[in-house]
Amino acid sequence: MRQIAIYGKGGIGKSTTTQNTVAALAASGKKVMVVGCDPKADSTRLLLHGLCQKTVLDTLRDEGDDIDLEDVLKPGFGETMCVESGGPEPGVGCAGRGIITSINLLESLGAYTDDLDYVFYDVLGDVVCGGFAMPIREGKAQEIYIVASGELMALYAANNISKGIQKYAETGGVRLGGIICNSRKVDHELELLQAFATELGSQLIYFVPRDNLVQRAEINKKTVVDFDPESNQANEYRSLAAAIDGNKMFVIPKPMSQDRLEELMMEHGFLGL
Ligand code: ATP
Ligand code: MG
Repeated sequence: MRQIAIYGKGGIGKSTTTQNTVAALAASGKKVMVVGCDPKADSTRLLLHGLCQKTVLDTLRDEGDDIDLEDVLKPGFGETMCVESGGPEPGVGCAGRGIITSINLLESLGAYTDDLDYVFYDVLGDVVCGGFAMPIREGKAQEIYIVASGELMALYAANNISKGIQKYAETGGVRLGGIICNSRKVDHELELLQAFATELGSQLIYFVPRDNLVQRAEINKKTVVDFDPESNQANEYRSLAAAIDGNKMFVIPKPMSQDRLEELMMEHGFLGL
């Protein structure tokens, strides 16, 4: 079982990219569980064809400790298993605690079965608090992918996330599997992201184009792989899934200084025009 966590700047496309990748893996016969680690609880909406009715934390709050697995684990597209951790009321409490409560509950209820090929953790936004690192810190996710684009703030966040991964990689087994570019159509974006990933000692594992079909599928509460499997964008997500499935490059990232990051943008990015 490979346990993968997806990180990246807020709004970069983590949940969309994760669910489309998972849908593609599931369609190719893999058994996948998705654990949403964001209080917004929208990490499984496209797989479930609507928002999860009840998160783990809601269920615990309403029903106490006597919970069955079916109360929190919902079947989604392609026989995926979908869980949303949920979170505290906005502005109160630590989101990270909700994640660890959920993972512990899933473990004690026997959700991590041997027939699972993958578990994906879709983790909330930036490195805002220790909570972000929960799936790594607790030794659950061993493999990380960072979603980024050619925009400075996306790369800035990706570099910061790499610092967090580096810290835990030195004491635990977690490794960076690569950078996924979710294109914002920035000039020279491919070259910039390749240079950024190389500088980290990692790789650009896939370049996902920007396509309005993603929005059309989203409004229909579906992944692109589910909504329009014949489309080019569905092919892109299938290729991303295949790249992850066949990935052999796992590294401890070497984050760069802010100056070096800006220099890289000057050399390769739109500022270099
Ligand atoms: P958050 O940090 O808030 O959880 P996120 O990183 O999970 O955000 P998403 O919710 O997946 O980001 O995506 C944000 C928006 O970007 C969505 O409305 C989605 O439709 C759109 N989007 C993501 N990827 C693409 C793409 N490749 N092409 C077009 N639109 C995209
Ligand atoms: Mg999200």
